[in-house]
Amino acid sequence: SMTIRNEIAEEVRHLSQKYGKVPGLAVVIVGNRKDSQGYVSMKRKACAEVAIKSLDIDLPEDVSQDDLIAEVHELNANPDVHGILVQLPLPKHINEEKVLSEISIEKDVDVFHPLNIGKLAMKGREPLFLPCTPKGCLELLSRSGISIKGKKAVMVGRSNIVGLPVSLLLLKADATVTLVHSHSHDPESIIREADIIIAAAGQAMMIKGSWIKPGAAVIDVGTNAIDDSSRKSGYRLVGDVDFQEACKVAGWVTPVPGGVGLMTVAMLLKIKNTVDGAKLSVLLQNKSCC
Ligand code: NAD
Repeated sequence: SMTIRNEIAEEVRHLSQKYGKVPGLAVVIVGNRKDSQGYVSMKRKACAEVAIKSLDIDLPEDVSQDDLIAEVHELNANPDVHGILVQLPLPKHINEEKVLSEISIEKDVDVFHPLNIGKLAMKGREPLFLPCTPKGCLELLSRSGISIKGKKAVMVGRSNIVGLPVSLLLLKADATVTLVHSHSHDPESIIREADIIIAAAGQAMMIKGSWIKPGAAVIDVGTNAIDDSSRKSGYRLVGDVDFQEACKVAGWVTPVPGGVGLMTVAMLLKIKNTVDGAKLSVLLQNKSCC
């Protein structure tokens, strides 16, 4: 992640010096969930490290869907903003899909817009940006020297945010891809066939050592809080994979939390998308001058 950070900082310097443009990332946060606040402070720190501007929009828990959408429209029109993140989950009275699809495609750095997902799915097409957590998973594989082409990959979970885009990226990387989800019969025997397992089901330690083919690569995206009375907080975070067991069987497995810092990589990729957005706006501006 140091390399990614340096690459981004270099691009920001270039953009500011050559075009006087500082990339800006807007983060919209509704209510005051503790975990969301944590993500947001991490984002702020990551932005500061590569000298991009971050703009925080804090809205109250009871904000109406219309007011939230109006805020998104304002950010769409703001020329100093090149990336917009809406921190999920949103309160129950708001339709997440509706709000996310209002973010303009050029600023959709989280890649939640249906048109971007569509482009991700099609052979020969690319979305403007790559989705961050999914791209982070593939970066982890490639930077660890694990080849994907021709391998059997099982994606556990099919959410719009993680499972679906990861499966599409794996497919584009020429894996044979199987999706396991909450309606799958006998997930255990499907998962045991996999050379590469990516877990994003949100089910604490669901995948046992005996479910893993010896030598398989396992990426655990799941982040689940479970009770732990020995901790001051009263909880600890575990993945979707039983890490202790998996270590004995897998060739390669990512711990939760931390270790490989999946979250940090994903964060940096969001910021990279913002910088790419700023470059895009420079290009568009230059075009309209000619
Ligand atoms: P989600 O709840 O939207 O989706 C869960 C998916 O898992 C669904 O498709 C569901 O069908 C499937 N599933 C549920 N139970 C299952 C079971 N028993 N067997 C097989 N499949 C099952 O969750 P999400 O937003 O995709 O997040 C998944 C996990 O990843 C969560 O723990 C979340 O906290 C974590 N997450 C981590 C990051 C990161 O960057 N580290 C980012 C996003 C999400």
